[in-house]
Amino acid sequence: MSVAPTAPSRPSTLPPAQATTPGNYFITNYPPFAFWKPEFVPELFDALERPPETGSPEGGPPLGLYVHIPFCRKRCHFCYFKVYTDKDSSEVRAYLDALLAELAAYVKTPALAGRRVRFIYFGGGTPSYLSVEQLRYLTEGLKRLLPWDAAEEITFEAEPGTLSEAKLHAIRALGVTRLSLGIEHFDDHVLEINGRAHRSKEIYRAYRWAQEAGFPQINIDLIAGMVEETEDRWRETVARATELRPDSVTVYQMEVPYNTTLYQRMKAEGRLVAPVADWETKRRWVDHAYREFERLGYTVTSGTTVVRDPARVKFIYRDGLFSGADILAIGVASFGHLGGVHYQNHHDFGPYVETVRAGRLPVYRALRPTPEERYIREFILQLKLGGVSASRFARKFGADPRAQFAGPLAALHAQGFLVMDGDRIGVTREGLLQIDRLLLEFFKPEHRTGRYA
Ligand code: SF4
Repeated sequence: MSVAPTAPSRPSTLPPAQATTPGNYFITNYPPFAFWKPEFVPELFDALERPPETGSPEGGPPLGLYVHIPFCRKRCHFCYFKVYTDKDSSEVRAYLDALLAELAAYVKTPALAGRRVRFIYFGGGTPSYLSVEQLRYLTEGLKRLLPWDAAEEITFEAEPGTLSEAKLHAIRALGVTRLSLGIEHFDDHVLEINGRAHRSKEIYRAYRWAQEAGFPQINIDLIAGMVEETEDRWRETVARATELRPDSVTVYQMEVPYNTTLYQRMKAEGRLVAPVADWETKRRWVDHAYREFERLGYTVTSGTTVVRDPARVKFIYRDGLFSGADILAIGVASFGHLGGVHYQNHHDFGPYVETVRAGRLPVYRALRPTPEERYIREFILQLKLGGVSASRFARKFGADPRAQFAGPLAALHAQGFLVMDGDRIGVTREGLLQIDRLLLEFFKPEHRTGRYA
């Protein structure tokens, strides 16, 4: 049964809802990255000297491994990641050796010694940019240092144009259970104008080979609202995506962070608003995609995902990341969380490789969230998955979110974005489609910096 709001609402702190202006929109962590600092790096080194906590009501945190591969064939105009399109094979080899040396240094520490990895994620950049030989070299080295025998999920991001039939079979043979294909759109003009390296012909070819290679889960990524997106083009892309019947689909809404070539072009032209659809239109397009997949029996499982069979298809890495797992992240610019400390590595190739070669961990900035910040972090990330069990939170953290967040919950409930149903704090469809904007309501005042940078 739904309950009426019990606390008075307060003035909304939400940013404007309409035009797509520059800056990061989506929230993936808390406190915001701008608050992670080089002077807090010793906190991580201290944490590495201690074995993991095991006394929590839910036992010790599971361990995930994130491996960052920063190479791409071409830089997409909307990309805000640190990617390199100009590295030769000797530089790639130097990078792979740095990854292995970095992992070797971590697994010797008391915080990680003897632990088993539960999930692994190869992200980028473009992991599938690597050749089969490079992939074997890397993964054999990783497995020697940190065995994968207890891993329940191994995810691998791939760009369709980098894949061959032989490479997909080799990726599957490495143990990858979940292939995530960065399709983004099916219209060749939209792909081209946004700087993507692949075209629709390569999508179909790669998808067929991936099915034949027998991955337990194939995910496809789409982006609503790329440059020159139209109503018809989006509907056609959704129609083509439904025809593939993937295990899951991740649908992003186009954002234009400052470090994109798209923003550089806007700045040169003196434009304040990005040349893409407004947020309301993008939400409507994502909603259309969700409805089309729901007609086929899929289930919406977060603000960005729709899944064919939720009983079978899991997102173990994402769910671990969102619920306080330890994430050992290796690679240039990668983000991790160990022993209660957030950290990020050096964001440039040269300093990253040189620091590892010099025998030091390549950590650039860190932050140990306070207990209150850990509480907020997990609460907002769980809302991105559609809802929170108040009693589970109270058991894990010793405080009921219905009391802790009475004001913001009441405000969002009054606006139709939340449903308070007994123990469950649920997000409505309208709320889910704009959840990142709403989450600012739960931030500490000093972290509400407008844009999440
Ligand atoms: S393929 Fe992905 S990581 Fe590479 S440039 Fe494009 S958006 Fe960025």
